[in-house]
Amino acid sequence: MEYLPVSWRIKGQTVLLVGGGEIALRKARLLDRAGARLRLVAPEVEPDLAALVEQGGGEIQRQVFAADQLDGVLLALAATDDEAVNRAVSEAAQARGVPVNVVDNPPLCTFIFPAIVDRDPLIISISSGGASPVAARWVRSRIETLIPARWGRLAALMGSRRKRLAEKLPSVSARRLFWEKVIDGAVAEQTLAGQDEAAATELDAAIEAADADKLMRGEVYLVGAGPGDADLLTFRALRLLQKADVVVYDRLVSPGVLELARRDAELVYVGKKRAEHVLPQDDINRLLVDYARQGKKVCRLKGGDPFIFGRGGEELEQVVEAGIDFQVVPVVTAAAGCAAYAGIPLTHRDHAQSVRFITGHRKESGELNLPWSDFLTPSETLVFYMGLVSLPAISAGLIMAGRSPDTPAALISRGTLSGQRVLKGTLGSLPDLVAEAGAEAPSLLIIGDVVGLYPRYRWFEDGEG
Ligand code: SAH
Repeated sequence: MEYLPVSWRIKGQTVLLVGGGEIALRKARLLDRAGARLRLVAPEVEPDLAALVEQGGGEIQRQVFAADQLDGVLLALAATDDEAVNRAVSEAAQARGVPVNVVDNPPLCTFIFPAIVDRDPLIISISSGGASPVAARWVRSRIETLIPARWGRLAALMGSRRKRLAEKLPSVSARRLFWEKVIDGAVAEQTLAGQDEAAATELDAAIEAADADKLMRGEVYLVGAGPGDADLLTFRALRLLQKADVVVYDRLVSPGVLELARRDAELVYVGKKRAEHVLPQDDINRLLVDYARQGKKVCRLKGGDPFIFGRGGEELEQVVEAGIDFQVVPVVTAAAGCAAYAGIPLTHRDHAQSVRFITGHRKESGELNLPWSDFLTPSETLVFYMGLVSLPAISAGLIMAGRSPDTPAALISRGTLSGQRVLKGTLGSLPDLVAEAGAEAPSLLIIGDVVGLYPRYRWFEDGEG
């Protein structure tokens, strides 16, 4: 991060603005809205600008810039079209430790202005760290269309009741939970629909009825994180991820998804590489209960879908036993994600009428004990999870049982992520292909005629094998 975003109260403080033209006027308007007292310095000043400064109780010095004009100022801005003057302002300000911004010249700035979406008192600032103001403005225009104009009124209504709620609920966490419910509920809807009075009445009633114990009760959310690409999360997964106090995650959860957790959430890694469990399953199960008993909202984030080879059932067992509230959030499982991103339809009217998800995980003894003769229907697609290490055994088992060695087969590594790789061969040839080319975990094995469609429906940029 090149710049730290902060929101700075500058009301009543003196800000030096050097420049008398159009660009200075734009900055002056912004500073004026934030309540700054302007000290404007320029030999010539546009009438609109002069009027604005005077109305705001500021001062105008119709002369060239001199360093002593920085006396007593909080911030300095240079908005002239004279490079030498801009540089002089920047140097003089920096020499005195005064934060300085030179319009359109990031190297001369110690702070920069973000693009903003204004739903006062809600202000959203967007910055590209000076790298691309166009990109920041583009994002701003998207956000503008997303957030209803009346959103500011909701923020203002909530602001007006903060004190009252603080008296009712001394706990900061309880208050946060209360406001989260308000934002998702009737008060918000009424405000956005223009029914300000009804919204205020509703909010007052909710404050009256607010119950810290009820709000603070711990909960467990068993949430699928999908196969990797954070875009594949569901809305609910995202909402709960941002609500959770604690996020308990394992190795398959991609950094892009983890990024979406609340900034101040506690992130707990519980590992799980093959054969190297950072925390034994029993301890994970107990951990969820322990956190929830402390009144925390616990998000147990699992790769893919929690109920498909995710031990979701086991993890809930103790939660149920302890009588803790919980939710289960489904999301794209690896088979669906990898197949879609590889352009392999798992079923197809001409090629596959059914699909079977199978675990290729071997028992502790190293044995892969699978009912091979159940997997012989040519019109059934087979998807093996955790099958990378067992690939030679899977191939041999299926061929011995009678599935044709010419059946198309593909191994998809790091599916849906950048670096996704598809190795395509046949049931007979794939083990050697993979041994030669190597494959990164996690990898998913798809076997069946539908794999033959991969070259045709391939769309996601990947390293083809
Ligand atoms: N609950 C998960 C599966 C967990 S088992 C789900 O629904 O997807 C772990 C196995 O999932 C891995 O061994 C691998 O076979 C598969 N897997 C998960 N993410 C994957 C990815 N991004 N690419 C390929 N395979 C993946």
